[in-house]
Amino acid sequence: MYIVPEREIAGLMTREAAFSAVEQVFAAMASGDAYNFPVIREAIGHEDALYGFKGGFDQAGLTLGLKAGGYWPNNLEKRGIINHQSTVFLFDPDTGKAKAMVGGNLLTALRTAAASSVSIKHLAREDAKVIGMIGAGHQATFQLRAALEQRSFEKVIGWNLHPEMLPNLAKVAAEAGLPFEAVELDGMTEADMIISITSSFDAILGAGQVSPGTHVACMGTDTKGKQEVDPQLLVKADVFTDEVAQSITIGEAQHAVGQGLIQESDVAQIGAVINGTHQGRTSDDQITLFDGTGVGLQDLAVAASVVDLAIEKGIAIEVDF
Ligand code: NAD
Repeated sequence: MYIVPEREIAGLMTREAAFSAVEQVFAAMASGDAYNFPVIREAIGHEDALYGFKGGFDQAGLTLGLKAGGYWPNNLEKRGIINHQSTVFLFDPDTGKAKAMVGGNLLTALRTAAASSVSIKHLAREDAKVIGMIGAGHQATFQLRAALEQRSFEKVIGWNLHPEMLPNLAKVAAEAGLPFEAVELDGMTEADMIISITSSFDAILGAGQVSPGTHVACMGTDTKGKQEVDPQLLVKADVFTDEVAQSITIGEAQHAVGQGLIQESDVAQIGAVINGTHQGRTSDDQITLFDGTGVGLQDLAVAASVVDLAIEKGIAIEVDF
């Protein structure tokens, strides 16, 4: 089997490659060529960590495997390492033999940013100019960098529970030559596109703080009990997701569905929009909301392309296993 260590990922994977791997796998999921296994995600009662497994099989790409890992909220402060930690394992679908072990930290950030970017490409208004960020942690910078490539944005606005982290967003905006403004949540009505990427367990963004025509990508809620937006926003919006089963159980839609405000059938797969079997956005006034829960197939797709590149470049470490 091959090992591709975390330190090699930055030199191998690009935002463009992550975007196309994720767009393809979302399309394959909607056409029934690829499916995710049920997610295991547990609060392990140690270091406040959430740990779990996300796996799946892509019959079209012949990618089988899982990502193991999660979120250790004390890592950065206590140990100076990022809070998200994960590893991807790939298996040969013909034999079941282990094929590769790949560092999953940077890949997770790239594939998560690619997911919201895919949603922006397919659901945001073409003339979107102001992007609003809720969250300013590790993933937020990746989200913003990737999102800015999707439309001709002219301004970045941001809110974070911990305002001292907002310079993280200002730095990415500056790199792109754009102004950054810290706003109160009511100020989010200026945004044409909003990304939320926090570890919140309570609604942050109110339904009245989103203007008609906005596309909202809720990217932080990936566990039962987590929440970033008022469930009434999902009533007002057309709701899309990576995987409906995850959206209604561990994603943002868990709350609106649990409270009986919307039904499972109100949540559409983004892959159907990519494949052209769902019309997606139909008017400039419509609020669209992407519930990005993060699926195992995304991880497998980006990991598989990294392994191919690492073998090609002679970087992959081959071990007898
Ligand atoms: P991080 O620790 O670097 O940043 C956390 C962010 O959440 C910061 O902006 C912080 O200020 C904010 N925050 C913390 N506690 C909060 C609270 N109680 N209320 C509101 N905001 C709060 O984490 P990160 O690596 O940037 O990850 C952010 C979130 O994204 C995590 O919850 C993680 O599980 C989730 N995530 C989702 C996916 C996906 O595919 N959907 C992938 C990776 C990470």
